[in-house]
Amino acid sequence: MPHYALSWRNPNERLFDISIRFTAPEDDPLLWLPAWRPGRYLIMNFAANVREWSANLRKVGKSAWRVGAGRGEEVEVTYRYYAGVLDAGSSFLAEDEAYVNGSNLFMCVDGLRGEQCVLEIATTWPIESQLPGLVARDYDHLIDSPIIASPAMTVHSFDESGATIHLVFRHGRNTERFVEPVGKIVREQAALFGGLPLHEYRFLYHAGDRWHGVEHEDSCSIIVKRSVEGTDHFLSITSHEFFHLWNVKRIIPAAFVPYDYSRETPTKLLWAMEGITSYFGDLTLARCGIWSEKQYLEHLQHEIELLENSPGRHVLSLAQASFDGWLHDAMHDRANAWISFYNKGELVAALLDLELRKQGRSLDEVMQTLWRDYGQTGRGVEEDALERIVGLPEFFARYVDGLEPLPYAELFHAAGVAFVSRPRGASLGAKLKVSDGALMIDTVTRGGAAMSAGLLPGDELIAINGTRTRHAGDATRAIHAAGEREIEVVFARAGVVDRCALTPRADGSVDIELHVIEPENALRREWLRSLNDRVH
Ligand SMILES: [Zn+2]
Repeated sequence: MPHYALSWRNPNERLFDISIRFTAPEDDPLLWLPAWRPGRYLIMNFAANVREWSANLRKVGKSAWRVGAGRGEEVEVTYRYYAGVLDAGSSFLAEDEAYVNGSNLFMCVDGLRGEQCVLEIATTWPIESQLPGLVARDYDHLIDSPIIASPAMTVHSFDESGATIHLVFRHGRNTERFVEPVGKIVREQAALFGGLPLHEYRFLYHAGDRWHGVEHEDSCSIIVKRSVEGTDHFLSITSHEFFHLWNVKRIIPAAFVPYDYSRETPTKLLWAMEGITSYFGDLTLARCGIWSEKQYLEHLQHEIELLENSPGRHVLSLAQASFDGWLHDAMHDRANAWISFYNKGELVAALLDLELRKQGRSLDEVMQTLWRDYGQTGRGVEEDALERIVGLPEFFARYVDGLEPLPYAELFHAAGVAFVSRPRGASLGAKLKVSDGALMIDTVTRGGAAMSAGLLPGDELIAINGTRTRHAGDATRAIHAAGEREIEVVFARAGVVDRCALTPRADGSVDIELHVIEPENALRREWLRSLNDRVH
């Protein structure tokens, strides 16, 4: 049984000391570190942060080492890992905290992946983790279990739907206010799947400068954006991560069974894992009464606006975006060639649910079937399984595999909701950002004025019609003043100042509105009603 030990010396060095003791399963045993972690479908090369490994380790590949030992020999290897970046999937060491994500920290002894393993942490601080007694049933379980050790944590525990739920906060005041709404979320989602498939669940919250969440089997880790007031986004991301305990942690694409941590494993089901999770995450808030119907429709309206203003929807299907998720970071023209499979996936899920409801079925039932046939049996979800269960090949051909405009008007109408799309007026056709005091072109829209004039992302916008542009607002005012007349743009590219003529024009952007036209609509009532109301 591999024995992992974690300790540290000077927290300001941000270096974890890791030791692994094991019995060599073969001559010259191989140890490897994952190149990516479940939940983030991108090669991250955690081995880049490994240093000062023991003399008995010999590096033999990008993320692989061998130990000079004979089969059956007792071996101990040590190494250090730099842990100075805090996000939901990283490891982080500070003077009052050790935050551990094993996927980036712990090497696997090849040949012992399926064996139970033990972790020892050299600290007297309280520890919060989904791993009971820090014993994992195998390597995959070990690295799926984030751990916080810290003398400064606030924990609220409560029982709901037959399980004990722990809200663990590293930072934050007035955290008791989250207990009641999180309880409602748990109850609502448990009702969908006929109960919780676990006895304990932990939400691990840190504060940070952006929102970020990662799902795990019996826990999730969430970074809460410090500067945001209100609870809407907090509950939305909480609900999303909780839904993942079924969708992706137990209902798992066959491409991930077992996980190959060494390389990309593309699947066109990422939209179903992330988009359907986003859909049910926010639908849960409406169903259990945290959001009003109006708030939920406003949320969908915002998501539709995001997609309909993404030029990439004309060239990249939802299935292809899922399959190519691994390439997202390497892509140079994301503004025109990429769509978010979270965003379009959520909308396709919503429309699919409405289409099914028109036929007296629902996406709830589809999830229940996936849970019964895959989640509860451990069978991986085949690439065509969702389409097979849903049984609407034309819908999938058009909106999942194809590029057809989504049928918002027709399907929202069935729910008594009007869909209105209004084209926006003439614009620059570019997104701007201020960087080091300079107004820069961040992206240019295909078919827009800036692209026609030859402007490029990275150009500095200096003046429009002789007026200095320092902020995005200066450019917007100058464009509005021009109407659709030609303007002169002075810009700098690679240190050379140049000018071009540009004629503002509409770039296909739209404003979207969803509003209720039928106050009493049976389909909408059933769609947004709490499942717990139906039981009682
Ligand atoms: Zn997710």
